[in-house]
Amino acid sequence: MSHILKLVFYFLCVQVAFAKSPKNIILFIGDGMGPTQITAARTVKGELALEKFNVSGYVLTHSTNKYITDSAAGATAFATGYKTYNGAISVHPETKKPLKTILEFAEEKGKSSGLIATSSVTHATPACFAAHVTSRSKQQDIAAQIAVSGVDVLIGGGLGYFLPRDKKGSKRSDKKDLLDKMQGYEFANSYAEFRKVATPEKLVALLETGHLHKAKDRKISLGMMTMKALNILSQNENGFFLMVEGSQIDWAGHDNKKKYLMTEMVDFDDAIGIAQKFAANNEETLVLVTADHETGGLALLGGSLAEKKVNLKFIDGHHTGVMVPVFAFGPGAEAFGGIQENHEIGKKMIGLFNSETN
Ligand code: MG
Ligand code: ZN
Repeated sequence: MSHILKLVFYFLCVQVAFAKSPKNIILFIGDGMGPTQITAARTVKGELALEKFNVSGYVLTHSTNKYITDSAAGATAFATGYKTYNGAISVHPETKKPLKTILEFAEEKGKSSGLIATSSVTHATPACFAAHVTSRSKQQDIAAQIAVSGVDVLIGGGLGYFLPRDKKGSKRSDKKDLLDKMQGYEFANSYAEFRKVATPEKLVALLETGHLHKAKDRKISLGMMTMKALNILSQNENGFFLMVEGSQIDWAGHDNKKKYLMTEMVDFDDAIGIAQKFAANNEETLVLVTADHETGGLALLGGSLAEKKVNLKFIDGHHTGVMVPVFAFGPGAEAFGGIQENHEIGKKMIGLFNSETN
């Protein structure tokens, strides 16, 4: 075969491979991550793992009742394919009935599922994938629903919501011991135990009673958590769904803390790099990276590529309404280009799992 023919053949093979539905979907949510947060992180880090993604688009973030969304309505849109009201955890805006989540679709299809957050796992973003409540403040109910959701890998903070009220660190007002109900899981109760975990079938690692520490004090990186989850979830021949949240990008925005923001962004991008490498080898995995909204109205007023420095200014301590980016890599990626509503991301993910032919 001539070189040209070989090249044509190669590109056809690549196209066919990428026209397939993904067996696995990994969704990264940078809570509060807008275009400026990404540009600044690129300057500070030098190069982003995100730059390996070949498709990108923009996401409109408004909720059913507010121009400016919160994280609950934002994550509901991704998890279920429906917009809802601010504060709702995967319930319908009018009927308040549960809306089926991508994690539940995955479980139904015999896939494995995982949730990773650097906040409590009962916080709005992760909650929307495995719970249905009318208000994000009902974290005790959210924990109880997560415990029976069938999620195979659960990594983050929030242990207190799973412990009965008489146990140290409990955030429950009742005597329910939710961990007691979680059968078949290996439990990592400390950072040391987490490091030692090999590849059990199911893992619960709730490493703080409340939220995890900031990236600079976290003891384990989001990348390590992602790697551990991928090792476990990829054991299932039917595939998996994994959501990884960079929860504290948002909090750095609310606090107008620039250094905090940059360390969270770099930690988040490192984790994205691990998933992207996994997907590049695996070839059946779609990786999506997006945000629920921007936080802080961050502006990039100057900087130096050589010195890896940025001059940032927050104009606000709240969420803003600017479109946020979405990046896609792997089979099905091309569906995520252009401008789209946030709930369309959820619809497309669920559609890809449903159109799977194998
Ligand atoms: Mg969040
Ligand atoms: Zn926020």
